[in-house]
Amino acid sequence: MDEAATRSNRIEVHDRDALATARAVLDACADAQAMGAAVEAAVARNADWRGRQCINLLAPEAPTSPGVRALLSAEIGTRAAEGHIGPVNRWFAGTRHIDEVEALCVELLKQYFRCNYADHRLCASMIGNAVVYTALSAPGDVIMSAAQPVGGHSSNRIDGPAGAMGRKITDIPIDPHELVVDIDAFRTAAPLVRPKLVALGLSMTLFAQPVAEMKQVIADWGGRLYYDGAHQLGLIGGRQLQDPLAEGADVITGSAGKTFSGPQSGIMVWDDPEITQALTTAVFPVWAATHQVNRVAALALAAAEAIAYGEAFMAQIVRNARALAAALHARGVPMLGAHKGFTQTHQAIGDVRAFGRGLGVAQALERADIIVNKNLIPDDRPGDWDYPGGIRMGTIEVTRLGMAEPEMETIAELIARIVVRGEAPEAVQADARSLRAGFQKLYFCFENGLPPSRR
Ligand SMILES: *Cc1c(COP(=O)(O)O)cnc(C)c1O
Repeated sequence: MDEAATRSNRIEVHDRDALATARAVLDACADAQAMGAAVEAAVARNADWRGRQCINLLAPEAPTSPGVRALLSAEIGTRAAEGHIGPVNRWFAGTRHIDEVEALCVELLKQYFRCNYADHRLCASMIGNAVVYTALSAPGDVIMSAAQPVGGHSSNRIDGPAGAMGRKITDIPIDPHELVVDIDAFRTAAPLVRPKLVALGLSMTLFAQPVAEMKQVIADWGGRLYYDGAHQLGLIGGRQLQDPLAEGADVITGSAGKTFSGPQSGIMVWDDPEITQALTTAVFPVWAATHQVNRVAALALAAAEAIAYGEAFMAQIVRNARALAAALHARGVPMLGAHKGFTQTHQAIGDVRAFGRGLGVAQALERADIIVNKNLIPDDRPGDWDYPGGIRMGTIEVTRLGMAEPEMETIAELIARIVVRGEAPEAVQADARSLRAGFQKLYFCFENGLPPSRR
């Protein structure tokens, strides 16, 4: 078989056309330097489009401040520093300033989350979840987590670390209408399986959860509750949502790059000295070695920004999400949680089954430079997973760009023109771009302070 035929017969999980296009681009390059330039050009195209022209409503995305971005390319990122902070705990000599940076990061995280312990070495929140499973459960243990159609995340399910690590997974009952844990059903279900660990993690997250009540149920047999706050982390520290540690959660994991608005990676915080050894040694040497010290430096700066601006930033994020949801609802898009004020978080969830379902709607909006994601909603069945019935929107980026409630009305109108009234996305694109053109600066950071609307 010739080489071209071998290539075309390869089994790929990635899109075959995308890889074939990349091969064609590389084949057309005169030399390796041109290949590198092709990479840089694609990065620049993304920065122009996503960074300056799009209205980004992706709930897990946050634009980092100029200072945080600068630290991501700092010299310190070329240094290796495995292990725990301190001269005796490292394999490598020469880490004295790295120790300073990492200790500052840990202490800044403790300040923002008002907790006793924090870990800074998780290269992803997903890794944080694997750390918790390693530290607080064993293969064969029963754990409980939420299914994806009611908001659960793969990291706590059969197809993620929990499943890969051999945990037996049962469902946390979630009320599909209220979108909170059905605590009566939980009181019945949990004692039947006596979970070692309850993983309360929701990627679709609109409302506070009954953490204290759940912990009370599982405390009977010494069960632990861990709150996977990937999305909610910034809101928790910024006092806009429940404080799971104060309510009895044993540990919180979360993404640094969602509402927390730092470099994409993970954070883990807890109070209980009893689990400190287990959690910290599950980070190293189990799940992280060189843990990207540039990222730790950027995380530390993001934590300082959060201490300065987090409350104001997170409060506006929630106000914007509520305003966006209400404005969409008023224009005919059924919104989840409408009967209880739409949302207490950065998210707004639309039921778009009447408008061509989530994938079609997300693709149409993208043609107008409005970015959302298709999302499972409680009525979706397993067969619907690639074509779910909902869309999820988040207000982190638009808020950091200085937008407030009036702009949420405008965005809802742009979305409704396409989704509800069937206008061609191309006819809406110019209006979307012109709104975005007026919001180019990032706020709630040391460079630019509060947005003009908040001064
Ligand atoms: C996003 C998410 C994760 C994974 O976070 P990463 O930082 O991308 O690894 C884990 N759990 C939940 C509930 C999430 O929403």
